[in-house]
Amino acid sequence: MHDVIILGSGPAGLTAAIYTCRENLKTLVITGSQPGGQLVLTMDVENYPGFPESIPGPELMDRMKAQAERLGAEFINGEATSIGFSKRPFKVKVQDQEFEARSIIVATGASAKTLGLASEAKLRGKGVSYCATCDGYFFKDRSVAVVGGGDTAVEEALFLTGLASKVFLVHRREVLRASGILQEKAFGNKKITFTLNSVVEEILGDEQVRGLRLRNLKSGSISEIECDGVFIAVGYRPNTAIFKGQMELDEGGFVVTKNEAETSIEGVFAAGDVCDPKYRQAVTAAGSGCKAAIDVGRFLKSRQR
Ligand code: NAP
Repeated sequence: MHDVIILGSGPAGLTAAIYTCRENLKTLVITGSQPGGQLVLTMDVENYPGFPESIPGPELMDRMKAQAERLGAEFINGEATSIGFSKRPFKVKVQDQEFEARSIIVATGASAKTLGLASEAKLRGKGVSYCATCDGYFFKDRSVAVVGGGDTAVEEALFLTGLASKVFLVHRREVLRASGILQEKAFGNKKITFTLNSVVEEILGDEQVRGLRLRNLKSGSISEIECDGVFIAVGYRPNTAIFKGQMELDEGGFVVTKNEAETSIEGVFAAGDVCDPKYRQAVTAAGSGCKAAIDVGRFLKSRQR
């Protein structure tokens, strides 16, 4: 029996583990299918405090894991395949192994949606990115494209105008989905060129992105643009499929929390991108992992009284 099982091993899950271990709570982390979370896909992290020279995403996550392990956290590599939330102790299965815990922290994160192109998978980390805040700096004074028409895409495009020499915004429809105020800013920014009614057929390049082949959905015509990087911003999917029907989720599938980290199930807390459609930063995820861990400590103490 564990005091707490943490689902997910990104900054939220590992920070939670560091805190629960320091409360002397018997802690098990189930890593999820991508140990270390989304940061392992990031080349260099320049905005995590404490690393003045920046740190590669995978190294940052290795360090967080080492810290949690040193403090006593146990790890199981794999994904939870079923969860019993109906009564305590909660039961979590990973394939044929079953674990029990008095509380749970859900920190399963979110995954950026992909375009599903073979060239996108090939050039991921070689000019294809899913986070302008993380990787935009590498395209200083260079030309980039952003794909998508929502708030994220327009925000990323605007952010990139502060770094890149030119930003193409490629969107599949005539109108953007983004909020009016963001659209106004983007249309007023001379660095952004809008390529509407267009989809990406292929991301061009062998070792590094060198451009995009686009298809205009109205005319059917094919064209190419030159760019050194492409940011895919076609939405995020929280990793909550396994919780559907068991826990309150919002219309986007994000875990609904109240009082910071409480979910709709007593004894189950949430942290990080799985319950945050807005900030999605490593440092905010780590902060929310800390809060969830403190809440778990208080919850378990209140049960002992
Ligand atoms: P989103 O609103 O779902 O927008 C995704 C965009 O990608 C849409 O324009 C969509 O096109 C396009 N798209 C989806 N699949 C595509 C594909 N396969 N190929 C090409 N284009 C594709 O996602 P988001 O922009 O990440 O925003 C998610 C949520 O977070 C929203 O509720 C948003 O308001 C919120 N958010 C808020 C802020 C803020 O308030 N500052 C910032 C970021 C995000 P269509 O338009 O044709 O569907």
